Amino acid sequence: MGYAEVSVNSPVAQRRTFSYSIPEGSDIDVGQAVWVPFGDKLLQGIVLELSCYPAVEETREIAGVIEPHPVLSPSHVSLACWISEYYLSPLFDAVASMLPPGFERKALTFISFPETPPEHDASSLTQSQNEALALIRGRGKVSLRELEKVLGKKKAQAVISQLVGRGLAIRSYELEPIKVRPKEELYLSLAVEAGEARQEAAKLHERRAVKQAALLDFLAHQSEPVSLAEARQKVKCDRATADALVSKGLVTLQRIVVRREPISYDGIVPSSPLRLTAAQEAAFKSIQARLHKPAEDGAEVFLLHGVTGSGKTEVYLQALAEAVRLGKRGIVLVPEIALTPQTIERFASRFPHKVAVLHSKLSLGEQFDEWQRIKDGEFDVVIGSRSAIFAPQPDLGLIVIDEEHEWTYKQDTSPRYHTRDVAIKLAELTGAVVILGSATPDVATFYHAQRGDYHLLRLPGRVTPRDGSPLPRVELVDLREELKAGNRSLFSRSLSEAIAKAVTNGEQVILFLNRRGGATFIQCRNCGFVLRCQRCDVPVTHHFAEDVLVCHQCNRKMPVPQACPRCSSRRIKFLGIGTQKLEQEAGYTFPQARLLRWDSDVTRGRHSHEEILGKFRAHDADILIGTQMIAKGLDLPLVTLVGIVSADTSLNLPDFRAGERTFQLLSQVAGRAGRGSLGGRVIIQSYSPGHYAIQAAAKHDYVSFYDKEITYRRQLHQPPFTRLARLIYSHTNDTLCQREAERMKRLLEGEIASRGIADLDIIGPAPAFIHRLRGRFRWHLILRGSEPSALLSQIPFPQGWTVDIDPVGLA
Ligand code: ADP
Ligand code: ZN
Ligand code: ZN
Repeated sequence: MGYAEVSVNSPVAQRRTFSYSIPEGSDIDVGQAVWVPFGDKLLQGIVLELSCYPAVEETREIAGVIEPHPVLSPSHVSLACWISEYYLSPLFDAVASMLPPGFERKALTFISFPETPPEHDASSLTQSQNEALALIRGRGKVSLRELEKVLGKKKAQAVISQLVGRGLAIRSYELEPIKVRPKEELYLSLAVEAGEARQEAAKLHERRAVKQAALLDFLAHQSEPVSLAEARQKVKCDRATADALVSKGLVTLQRIVVRREPISYDGIVPSSPLRLTAAQEAAFKSIQARLHKPAEDGAEVFLLHGVTGSGKTEVYLQALAEAVRLGKRGIVLVPEIALTPQTIERFASRFPHKVAVLHSKLSLGEQFDEWQRIKDGEFDVVIGSRSAIFAPQPDLGLIVIDEEHEWTYKQDTSPRYHTRDVAIKLAELTGAVVILGSATPDVATFYHAQRGDYHLLRLPGRVTPRDGSPLPRVELVDLREELKAGNRSLFSRSLSEAIAKAVTNGEQVILFLNRRGGATFIQCRNCGFVLRCQRCDVPVTHHFAEDVLVCHQCNRKMPVPQACPRCSSRRIKFLGIGTQKLEQEAGYTFPQARLLRWDSDVTRGRHSHEEILGKFRAHDADILIGTQMIAKGLDLPLVTLVGIVSADTSLNLPDFRAGERTFQLLSQVAGRAGRGSLGGRVIIQSYSPGHYAIQAAAKHDYVSFYDKEITYRRQLHQPPFTRLARLIYSHTNDTLCQREAERMKRLLEGEIASRGIADLDIIGPAPAFIHRLRGRFRWHLILRGSEPSALLSQIPFPQGWTVDIDPVGLA
């Protein structure tokens, strides 16, 4: 008899598996999804290991298989175990990230007859038992739910147990179905001959029903039904126009089910590989060599370091094509915000009909279809954000992570993995090659590349049609000097001159400020009281449009008070600036310019990123004002000036990565200027223009930033020289919260001493930077050392604790 170690979908399972015996005659594999009895429930589980001996004395039997074939490959099983161990997350959380979308469903129990039922005498059975048997006989198979409806819940369960006990019925289990609605669209077609339609159109025109005439005429010229949406756009009419023609009996309107294909290949023209520049060629050759001959142990990781526009994507595309020639497939990860139609199109045009897209905006049904087709090996390339790393891509040969420094690659709920580290582990398990691409690599990544753990590839300049339009000139403005000169406006003299000039010349300007809203804090001039969110304790921000105060932590909204809640003075002052305030000020200062704002307040909808961008690209606005959103990969040739209104917002965060963050943001924003033939200029305003991160960003000099930064990290024992773990405890009572954090610290100190661990410090406990979040207080401890998770895996954490290994933010 065989045994299986199963990861069970239950919160009490935590990081362990459970042993089950494999029923006689059934064929169970690693990675297979099964039903297992757990307490008095039947739960989903995934088999992670098979063995000849059980890990415990008494085992229960696996109740059934969910799918005949394994849902996880052996490498995914190993990856899940590694994630759970390294990030200390529940095992099933790790497993679940790799299961097909919508997989986590309840079991439905069905009752049927066994193949050869024993002889029985109906008179020896109770009335309910006979009733149940009759129902089963009628349909061959009945769900327990239906029986419960007929017999009542308690009774049905008892009756079935009795029948199963006598061998007269058997239970089987199925997943409840996914709730997927087919997508339908309205289509218009002619109800009369085309010739007649044209005559009717002419009559309608005479009667001045111009829109109806136009629509009818349009339809008369089509050979196939046209979607209402398309017709409305082409003819510029509305639904009522179509309805009018329907009621005249000239046109029919039908619902047609459309197949969901996440990529529309309409209008995508296949593209061919470009002739590589010398630097691209050298990078490609190194990658090619490793694709042909991967390392025998460990992963082959490349860091492709090059500014935006240096041709990294072309290298990815050709490396992917090479992998495909070798019979392999690839996964490409981009930050969520960069998963735009343009990005997808670049890949889709190189690999027509061979690209799958996975992202959270697809419906469950679309995600499920796409997952299944990927698993069946239909695609050469899967492109997606963070979680696409878990796509069931067979024959994986290449993983690309673009913008590898992005913080969004860290998952912020359990399992709290970093996509880059997961990708490297997966590559190690599958023999795939990894390419990390960035203009401003994560300091830890660059450190590994410097040490030779990764291969460093450099693309030194931009590839542009007009032969190297250079990186934009950057000018630093010291705001302290502006104040001395009596300029209190948001715009330094240089910046306002440059804006005025660009707008006059018909060029475009981007103004960057990393803060939403209007005034960023509201203070009483009389007593100094600052208005805060009652649940999170952070200062609230004023938003003009709705004239409300908003907490940027929890999004709670509150009205603007007439008087100070503490001293009742009416002298309430709005201080600090956000993007809304900047927009207002820009309106006063540059009345001739057309403004457009882009931040998460205006982009809550599904398509509005595209709309805003489309508007700006079409030159419907002169100045685009925005938060870090505008920093991401846009290519806007008319932009000749980028103004960074304040470089200091991210510099003052209580986080050892504040310098790195500032450098990355400024470099990205500065990279928006001068993408066209007009050249470009960047103006950075700051109260601390001497800071090395700002200085280096102004010179587009990653290496000088890195050299300074890595020196500080070494001196201060920060990553990559150590590893961090952040332990957060949250509770509605602040004192209790502090006490629990202190207790944990003592417990950890005791463990460190008794195990004789030399290189592990504990910092804190302290209130977290965001001390209060949604009504709960938060205290944290930071562990710093060579291997904090080795100790933490031994510690029991009561409810309320969150353990974050390799945290990306300490706020
Ligand atoms: P990155 O990914 O580094 O931002 P891209 O690969 O998008 O850079 O390249 C920037 C621009 O240069 C794109 O328009 C691309 O089509 C073009 N390009 C890239 N490589 C070449 C090449 N070898 N020859 C001509 N144009 C190229
Ligand atoms: Zn007051
Ligand atoms: Zn709040």
